[in-house]
Amino acid sequence: MRRVLSFVLCAVLGAGAVSAADNAPVEAKKAPIDTIFPQGEVNPYGKFFTGTSYLTMLSNNDEVFNAPIGNVTFEPGTRTNWHKHSGGQILLVLAGEGRYCERGKEVQVIKKGDVVRIAPNVEHWHGAGPETWMTHISVETNVPNNKAEWLEPVSDADYR
Ligand code: MN
Repeated sequence: MRRVLSFVLCAVLGAGAVSAADNAPVEAKKAPIDTIFPQGEVNPYGKFFTGTSYLTMLSNNDEVFNAPIGNVTFEPGTRTNWHKHSGGQILLVLAGEGRYCERGKEVQVIKKGDVVRIAPNVEHWHGAGPETWMTHISVETNVPNNKAEWLEPVSDADYR
């Protein structure tokens, strides 16, 4: 399988910085929901996730637009690690049902049509539901001064 090396979910996008060889093989599954855009490749930055996710970059980072936009699909149970974006992030939920949580707050159910506006430097995670797939568009805001800081995985207790 061809790997996309130029992707950093929730981060400023740049030249490929992580070798796919660092990742254990993952069996790709076809999402049973309408991802609208192509499901894409297994996310090579899976080390920042629990479970399996997929990515299609809709607009790569560049100096013309400064607007990295990615379409991310999460298998059931898959979620990002805790993390934060120095420039914030906006999620547009396209399909399925997922979860979003900010540190110290209740887990929120997110569904098709929801918009999640994540302020700069707010620690959070996002992902699928325990039994449901979810696809969202990720828009990085305040580029190019937007860096992602990845933290610890979301425990099963915090996830559920
Ligand atoms: Mn995020």
